[in-house]
Amino acid sequence: MGRTRYEATEIETRKLLTMHGGFHHRASTLRLYTRRNEGGQGLMSVRATVQDKTTKIQENVRKMAPKGELLSEYLRQQKPDDAEEEEEEPSWRDKPPHGMYHRQIEVADSKKSYQWLEKAGLKDSTEALITAAQEQALSTRSIEAGIYHTRQDPRCRLCKDTPETVQHIIAGCKMQAGTAYMERHNQVAGMVYRNICTEYGLEVPRSEWKTPPKVV
Ligand SMILES: [Zn+2]
Repeated sequence: MGRTRYEATEIETRKLLTMHGGFHHRASTLRLYTRRNEGGQGLMSVRATVQDKTTKIQENVRKMAPKGELLSEYLRQQKPDDAEEEEEEPSWRDKPPHGMYHRQIEVADSKKSYQWLEKAGLKDSTEALITAAQEQALSTRSIEAGIYHTRQDPRCRLCKDTPETVQHIIAGCKMQAGTAYMERHNQVAGMVYRNICTEYGLEVPRSEWKTPPKVV
C-alpha cells in the first residue's frame, strides 16, 4: 500500500505533462514534486493530495464525534496505525546528475537563484526546458557520448573544440561569444538601464529591445 497505490496515476500524469511539453522525460521526477521556493516545479502528487484530504476528514470526524454516535463508534474502531507512514523523501538536490546544478549554486544565494520559479510566469514548456538544462537532462553531445553511448565524439558541434555540455553551450563556446552571448549581455544590461531610468525619473525606453542612447 502507500506509495505504490498511486504510482500508476502519478506516471500517467507525468506522461501527459511530457506530451504537452511541461516536463522533460529525462528531468528529475523528485524535483517536479518539490516546492517552488525550494527550487522545484511545485506539482502536487496524487499521494500528497489524498493524504492531505484524509487528514482533514479525520480531523473533522474527531471534532464532530462528541455530537454523534455513528462518528464516535467509527473513531473507536479506527486502528491507530491506519495513518500512512511518512517516509523520508530523498531530495533531487542529492542526485548525481540532476542535483549538480544545485550543488554548484549553493555557494551563492540559492533562494534568489530559484526566485524565477515563483515569479517569472514562464510558459510550462520554457520552464521545463530550463529545469532540464540545469539537471544535465538534455541530449548534448557530451551526454550522448559519455552516458547514452549513442555517439563517439563528445565535442561541441560549433567550435569542435571542447566537450558539448550545457555549461559550454550557455557560457563557454568561442563561436557564440561575439553573437549570442553579447546579445544576452546587452539584454540584461538593458534591464538594468530601464530600472535606473525608472529610479531617477528619466525617460524609460518604450521598447525593451531598443538600444539605449550613449549618454543620458
Ligand atoms: Zn563550442
